[in-house]
This record gives sequence, C-alpha cells and structure tokens, in this order.
Amino acid sequence: MIIDTNAAFTINRSPTALTPDQRRAVMESQPKFGDVFTDHMAVAQYTPEAGWHDCEITALAPFQLHPATSVLHYGQAIFEGLKAYAMPDGGISLFRPAMNAQRFALSAARMAMPQLPEDLFLASLKALVQVERDWVPKQNGSSLYLRPMMFSRDARLMTKPSASYTYAVIACPVGNYFPNGVAPVTVWISHEYIRAARGGTGEAKFAGNYAASYAGQAEAAAHGCDQVVWLDAIDRKGIEEMGGMNMYFVTKRDGKTTLVTPKASGSLLKGVTRDSLFTLAGDLGYAFEERRIDIDEWREGCRSGLITEAFACGTAAVIVPIGRAKSSADEDIVVNNGEAGPVAMQLRERLLAIQHGAAPDPHGWLMPVV
Ligand SMILES: *Cc1c(COP(=O)(O)O)cnc(C)c1O
Repeated sequence: MIIDTNAAFTINRSPTALTPDQRRAVMESQPKFGDVFTDHMAVAQYTPEAGWHDCEITALAPFQLHPATSVLHYGQAIFEGLKAYAMPDGGISLFRPAMNAQRFALSAARMAMPQLPEDLFLASLKALVQVERDWVPKQNGSSLYLRPMMFSRDARLMTKPSASYTYAVIACPVGNYFPNGVAPVTVWISHEYIRAARGGTGEAKFAGNYAASYAGQAEAAAHGCDQVVWLDAIDRKGIEEMGGMNMYFVTKRDGKTTLVTPKASGSLLKGVTRDSLFTLAGDLGYAFEERRIDIDEWREGCRSGLITEAFACGTAAVIVPIGRAKSSADEDIVVNNGEAGPVAMQLRERLLAIQHGAAPDPHGWLMPVV
C-alpha cells in the first residue's frame, strides 16, 4: 500500500533528549557548522512494494548498515540543505522549502532513485522543526540548519539501482558563518580538476560531487587559497561555481550596475540563494544577466574596472565576497581592492532580513511551520 503522503510523521520522543540547560550550554558553545545535532531526526523508508512508509520522528541514532549496503559501494546518495529561522513574533519559518523539495526530486531522478513526494518532504521538515523548536537559535545570523538526505539500502553487490532506500532529516543549530565580520576569500581557479560536465551529475545535489571536489579543494589550499573555483569541462574557461556555492559578478558601465551569474547549462547546481538573488537584484534596481562569463572576462574586467565585485552564494554562508583569484604563479586577479563590495553586502543584508522576518517578505518566501 502506498502511504498517504499527507499523513503526519509519527512522533516518538527521545527518552535521552537534552534538558533545556544542557541544550542552552551546547548552543552557547558556538559549535562549528554541522558539528552539533539536535535530539531527533526524521526517517522514512522506501520499498517498491510499500512505497514510502514508516515515517517517523525519532531519537537521533546511528544507522546499522550491512557491509554490502549499496550506498557504500555504488554511491546512490543525495541531500539537501535549508534553514529554519526564528521569527520576531515567536514563530519559526523555513525559507523557500518547496524549491528544495523540487530539487531533491530532480536529484533523485538523476541518480535513478525514487522520488519523495513534495508534501512528504515538507511534512518531514515541519514535524522535525516542531519537535526541535527549542533548538532554533534566536540571534540574527543564526538558524537551525536542516539536512534532508536519501541513500540506497539494498544489501547486495549487483550493480544496478537499489530497490530500497532510506530518507532522513537531521538538524544542526548554526551560528553566523562570519562571527568576526564578513571576510573576503581568496580563490584558486583550478585548471587541473573539473567539478562537473554537462550530462554528468553536476546539476544533482549528489554526495559524490563533493567527494570528487576535495582534491581540487586541496589543490587550492596548497596554493594558499581558501576555496576552489571550477571551470567548465569543455574549454576550461567558463566560470562555473566556487566550491559548493554559486557565483556572481557585479559590473558597472555608464553608472548602470548589473549582476551577472554563470548560465546553468547543465553542469551547475542551481542554488535557491542564486535564484533568490535574481529577484532581489530586480527589487534593488539592478540589471540582471544569466550568461557565460569566462576567466578572460573576469581578469580583463577587474583590470579595466568594469567588474567591481565578485561573490559566491549558498544557504550555509549566504554571500561570501571574493577578494582575489589565482590560477598559476603569475595569475593574480584582485577584485575591489580585495575588500567586500557594497552590492554584495547590500544583497546579503537584504536576504538575511527577509529570512529572519526583520523585513517584509514581498515574494512569499517564508513558510511558517511553528
Ligand atoms: C547546495 C549547493 C549550492 C547552493 O545552493 P543553495 O540552494 O543556494 O544552498 C551551490 N553549489 C553546489 C555544488 C551545491 O551543492
């Protein structure tokens, strides 16, 4: 029987949940991003016969996996990332969770995994946040980070898509990504590695994309850079992404400010933040272009003054200004004198204000869950 996806998740409260005092101490210890987890998780199981079933909120606990479990060998694993924010009126809201639900379904399709219905995805987030409402930090810049995930569960070594899957959501209280003020990063543009190619897995939020990116990140670190910037796989000139974030450039010509982001032509992960900035650009009176931008344009633009800023964006850090870009011993692109630019900072403040309920939400991006 296919479950009724409107059915609420069954709630089994953890007998070992932290006391309010213990929880407060944990949250005040300024944990690193993704290091501290709340008491509960959402879990659901899939089999072809029963569809999605056993949907519950339960104590956070390790999974027991047979050594032949499919995900450990062939890697069918996808995830999402979004945040729950404490509202000024005491409520809690998610930011554009339907976009994450839709992207999760696209990622599943690409990895030959079953799709989780959008209402079940949203119900899992709502139920988990309701149970963990006291774990949602109240300070500006802080939030409860939610990590939905799905992995293949069959215990056999045959190379074909698993029949059974587990879906889960875990949650982490997270503070401001920049506790000491927004600091621009230096990036390494890799000519050695690529992240994704059209037709590959780059458009899916697929765990293996991250595994494949770590060597490039290590190359960046070895050159004294904070982050790696990926070029396209075909001519190795088009700018694609920075680490696990989308990128933007700000150009200024005859007093007109334009936001430019690389076109999603099949190898970019299309971020919810990237999409939100399309709209905010319009709200703030900036022109907006989604098109190819290559490394020569970046270099020349910074030299001529046409490109005034570069930054990356994503749920975890919101907006990260890029101060410098290197790709070889003699390539050193300096952006905005290495400082955070006004357009990046304005967009960052505007987006954070909407997310925290401190500014009006004209586009209906917040979904109240408590
Ligand atoms: C998640 C992710 C992003 C950012 O997406 P948001 O929805 O804005 O958080 C960008 N690039 C990659 C590779 C990602 O995995």
